[in-house]
Amino acid sequence: MLQDQDRIFTNIYGMADRSLKGAQSRGHWDGTKDLIGLGRDKIVEIMKASGLRGRGGAGFPTGLKWSFMPKESDGRPAYLVINADESEPGTCKDREIMRHDPHTLIEGALIASFAMNAHACYIYIRGEYIREKEALQAAIDEAYDAGLIGKNACGSGWDFDLYLTHGAGAYICGEETALIESLEGKKGMPRMKPPFPAGAGLYGCPTTVNNVESIAVVPTILRRGAEWFAGFGRPNNAGTKLFAISGHVNRPCVVEEAMSIPFEELIEKHCGGIRGGWDNLKAVIPGGSSVPMIPGKDMRSAIMDFDYLREQKSGLGTAAVIVMDQSTDVIKAIWRLSAFYKHESCGQCTPCREGTGWMMRVMDRLVKGEAEVEEIDMLLDVTKQVEGHTICALGDAAAWPIQGLIRHFRDEIEDRIKHKRVRPTAAVAAE
Ligand code: NAD
Ligand code: SF4
Repeated sequence: MLQDQDRIFTNIYGMADRSLKGAQSRGHWDGTKDLIGLGRDKIVEIMKASGLRGRGGAGFPTGLKWSFMPKESDGRPAYLVINADESEPGTCKDREIMRHDPHTLIEGALIASFAMNAHACYIYIRGEYIREKEALQAAIDEAYDAGLIGKNACGSGWDFDLYLTHGAGAYICGEETALIESLEGKKGMPRMKPPFPAGAGLYGCPTTVNNVESIAVVPTILRRGAEWFAGFGRPNNAGTKLFAISGHVNRPCVVEEAMSIPFEELIEKHCGGIRGGWDNLKAVIPGGSSVPMIPGKDMRSAIMDFDYLREQKSGLGTAAVIVMDQSTDVIKAIWRLSAFYKHESCGQCTPCREGTGWMMRVMDRLVKGEAEVEEIDMLLDVTKQVEGHTICALGDAAAWPIQGLIRHFRDEIEDRIKHKRVRPTAAVAAE
């Protein structure tokens, strides 16, 4: 278990003062000028050595991503964009950073922007995060007033501006290229990749898009060193990590823990165990709604990191851990996700636009027990036609939870079809 002195986020529960004074008393903004003084190459080198992988869900190595930015300006400005459009069902970790520890993010934004030659950074915050936007804006104003950002930020000689942009509630605007389109004032629709944003991003300029948590941990990594951060977790799965645990545990919470913590330890130490005990655990979605669920019996011995969960045909994703006990109608739970993805599809590519509708309609029949058994394989086939055939990851995200359901709970689906046994909780028609 992570010791208190190793926690990067010292105010995740909002018990301490989140103002600049409070943040400084907890060690933030300490020697920032010296960190910038390390120089671009050294900062990127440290970030690579730390092993930090993107905390937005995909787990792409952060230092490597930064190294794709041009070292010398070709006349175009460079930008850092921070993705605070946290919308993945189950995910609420960045919210806690922005609410209670906003200065970690602002200091990280300055250092990361400097490392990528960007004088401007945009934070794109989810439309529903109204209080978080207020808290973050107040912290940005404080940082400007104190000379920590703005002209000659922290006395470093580097001019840096930070802009907070409020989204309007579309899940797809969390996809990095849709986010860029939205920032440019256009409809939030993903672009084809490549080119990746480092080549042509915001306004066609070199851009890096990073998640809130990825940026907020940067100053502490630089202060304590790459080795310190890399010392947590298994190889290729380094660092500390915020886990957002919801559902049928005794005490749902957001907690910072060492990567690769065993699932059982995470739940026992921080959530007071599974509601009704471990025998009552039915299934877990370990990384936000885009990753397939894992049955409870397999999850008990799971290790919470990218590589282990991928081997289980699931993923760490956003580390939003959704726990479901035996009272859960898992078919209905996945039906609900299907409805979500259908609603949030931007509609620009056919497999996603049509496929999410197809998948939701078949799921609707399954959940009510009205389908034929053959439709299970037909649904699986549809998921395979959507997966990997779309412009952005939303198509995969819509397909994978259904594949996980069929892989692990086919018996339950067949049982419902054969016996038309719909649990009382599955009254979907009324919704
Ligand atoms: P991705 O794997 O396509 O890309 C991840 C990052 O790496 C991107 O910034 C991308 O530009 C970069 N990248 C990947 N390959 C590259 C290459 N060859 N060259 C240069 N850069 C490269 O994944 P994605 O579509 O950005 O994200 C998908 C994930 O997002 C899902 O796994 C899901 O967990 C997560 N997600 C999170 C939220 C949230 O609220 N945090 C919401 C929806 C989805
Ligand atoms: Fe839009 Fe879906 Fe295509 Fe993504 S996969 S671009 S959300 S239609």
